Amino acid sequence: MAAKKQTVELIALACTECKRRNYTTSKNRKTQQEKLEMMKYCKWDRKHTLHKETKIK
Ligand SMILES: [Zn+2]
Repeated sequence: MAAKKQTVELIALACTECKRRNYTTSKNRKTQQEKLEMMKYCKWDRKHTLHKETKIK
């Protein structure tokens, strides 16, 4: 068996208001090439805010 290429990438979702990284998730690079953006609850802002994809280091 040949080694599989890593297509699933771990990413963090950062709040666009306070810039904190509140969530981690994964995405498939083959099917999802654009940046992820989603409405998530931010416990620091205590409301739903837009979270954008950032890299995990
Ligand atoms: Zn926030």
